[in-house]
Amino acid sequence: MARYIGAVCKLCRREGTKLFLKGERCYTEKCSYTRRPYPPGQHGQARIKLSEYAIRLREKQKVRRIYGVLERQFQKYYFDAARRKGRTGEQMLGLLESRLDNVTHRLGFAFTRAQARQVVRHGHVLVNGRRLDIPSVILRPGDKVEIRPKSREIKEIVASLAQVEKRPILSWLELDKANFVGTFKGLPVRDEMNEPAIREQYVVEYYSR
Ligand code: SF4
Repeated sequence: MARYIGAVCKLCRREGTKLFLKGERCYTEKCSYTRRPYPPGQHGQARIKLSEYAIRLREKQKVRRIYGVLERQFQKYYFDAARRKGRTGEQMLGLLESRLDNVTHRLGFAFTRAQARQVVRHGHVLVNGRRLDIPSVILRPGDKVEIRPKSREIKEIVASLAQVEKRPILSWLELDKANFVGTFKGLPVRDEMNEPAIREQYVVEYYSR
């Protein structure tokens, strides 16, 4: 599956908020958004009033960029969510949160979702004891996600796990840090996602216009 490989700090500046796409750097003064909190480009500092449409478009782009998903696949999550019972926006975020790369990141095996994606692609992750190298796989309640024994000394994984306390494990996940094993307990509800900046209703309005 394709992925975005351009400059990521530009994305934060475009969306007007920190998306935390670079791991530790995002928490330092080197953060590009901290230094230049306006959109990239020649007219980045011009004052522009966003239209109602543009507000919704930007929100959709922001969510897509947070989770590292391209448009086609993101649309698929939206339409899948729309067919499910319950609020579409919440269901869509639930699907995004259930992705293997997201869970790998949330469990603390990687600093960012992009890094988690690489950890998965390189075959370092086992799901229910079997190697699974597809980052977009949607996990099911009870699935066990672990770092395979051979990969438990990889310094990026060890360093990320060492800092896991700084990003508390969410209630819908369980981590056995000593054994590099986590459990996906079930689809999170909105309050358990720790993404207060996302206004998913705008994404729903964007696609249902
Ligand atoms: Fe965004 Fe700052 Fe992290 Fe770059 S360093 S990805 S601008 S939060």
